[in-house]
Amino acid sequence: MTTPTFADWQQRAQALRIEGRAFIEGEYTDAAGGATFDCLSPIDGRRLATVASCDQADADRAVASARAAFESGVWSRMAPARRKATLIRFAGLLAEHREELALLETLDMGKPIGDSLNIDVPGSANAIRWSAEAIDKLYDEVAATPHDQLGLVTREPVGVVAAIVPWNFPLMMACWKLGPALASGNSVVLKPSEKSPLTAIRIARLALEAGLPAGVLNVLPGYGHTVGKALGLHMDVDTLVFTGSTRVAKQLMIYAGESNMKRVWLEAGGKSPNIVCADAPDLEAAAQAAASAIAFNQGEVCTAGSRLLVERSIKARFLPLVVEALRGWKPGNPLDPATNVGALVDTQQLETVLGYIDAGRREGAQVLIGGGRTLHETGGFYVEPTIFDGVSNAMKIAREEIFGPVLSVIEFDDLDEAIRIANDTQYGLAAAVWTANLSKAHRAARALRAGSVWVNQYDGGDMTAPFGGFKQSGNGRDKSLHAFDKYTELKATWIQL
Ligand code: NAD
Repeated sequence: MTTPTFADWQQRAQALRIEGRAFIEGEYTDAAGGATFDCLSPIDGRRLATVASCDQADADRAVASARAAFESGVWSRMAPARRKATLIRFAGLLAEHREELALLETLDMGKPIGDSLNIDVPGSANAIRWSAEAIDKLYDEVAATPHDQLGLVTREPVGVVAAIVPWNFPLMMACWKLGPALASGNSVVLKPSEKSPLTAIRIARLALEAGLPAGVLNVLPGYGHTVGKALGLHMDVDTLVFTGSTRVAKQLMIYAGESNMKRVWLEAGGKSPNIVCADAPDLEAAAQAAASAIAFNQGEVCTAGSRLLVERSIKARFLPLVVEALRGWKPGNPLDPATNVGALVDTQQLETVLGYIDAGRREGAQVLIGGGRTLHETGGFYVEPTIFDGVSNAMKIAREEIFGPVLSVIEFDDLDEAIRIANDTQYGLAAAVWTANLSKAHRAARALRAGSVWVNQYDGGDMTAPFGGFKQSGNGRDKSLHAFDKYTELKATWIQL
């Protein structure tokens, strides 16, 4: 099998036929009101597809379809081993369509094709497969009862799950939800971001081909917050799972309170600290990791290592290594397999990121590398990976999630100070510490208020590790067996013998 070249990808992009309609009751369909919006490619700003813009009527239809499928038992009461087989076929189809899905993802979202191909699509297929494999190995419980009682503690699917996902890993975030939600027997209404709806729309059909009954997975694209709000307020949605910003996450909790008290599980933003101590075992490796932690996926990563905390005594030696490492991350056309930094998702995100770079300069931080827009001539939305030195944790660029390739360097004198600075944030998604001292590493891991802590690496973990946040980074966890908690209700059945 030959790997496609830049020219191959460009050619395939021209020939690609893109589906932009919603998927309800096992069929592609226009929005009930006929509304559409243009889906633009961040690579060059050109129109990629016309996409259905769903609203309340579509949400009602999709939820009714999901409810009917759930009540019928066609999926919800199917034996777990059979659900497993269907979902493994679905994962297989994702893998089979890897190149097509990778191309769609890159065109729609602007990430490098190599990442879509080697990380996003395989990771998505793996998330489905892993959850499927787990579902016939999860046992319920028998309580420790008196002799004349039998106490059963069982898990049941919650019913209709609405999943609202972001644009930075469109397919992967969707599959982190779909895997355990579907494996548990629920019906799902998936709402992709208006900035990157195309892979979610495409995979609905693949799920049907794999044997998922009609109505069990519905996909509702929509412009703005209309259809997401309709799902958030819907009286017949049992659980709402979300990945996105902290601002919208809070709004979803309000919707739940204003409607049917649906369960709300949130994966939200981050401002993750990456702490490099003077006794780090390998400063070169730490520098490479610091660069990739801010440049990978154009910095549009919830766990981006956006605050680099460096011990003062090694700063003069360490920072030049980070600058050098970041020079290896260069924006380019995302369809070129050699590119490792793609385009930001849209003009709005471009302006947001440039606005933060301005704010950093205004507050007196110094740009060591990058600091501006690049590749204007393409019509796309590219920003140079940027490092600010001389940042205090009180500055706007250190406090707010930028969601772009902008790194803030902050100094510290000892581990206690580093942990104080690291935890001085509203977020608590991830943190890393670099030290050769085992006891210091454990002390830091305990003290850091974050859902994931990495030692002498950045961004470790796989499907076996729960992923989610402390504080305003969210609640609940994706991945691992813990994810099933979100998609099941616990029932106690007590029998007098
Ligand atoms: P966003 O909050 O703007 O949008 C997320 C989703 O919510 C989109 O589908 C959007 O259309 C929808 N939405 C917007 N307003 C809504 C409303 N009022 N009601 C219902 N739905 C609404 O986030 P984004 O810009 O798409 O994604 C970036 C954010 O996602 C960042 O903050 C990032 O940290 C976060 N993120 C978190 C994780 C995690 O696992 N914790 C992973 C990836 C991204």
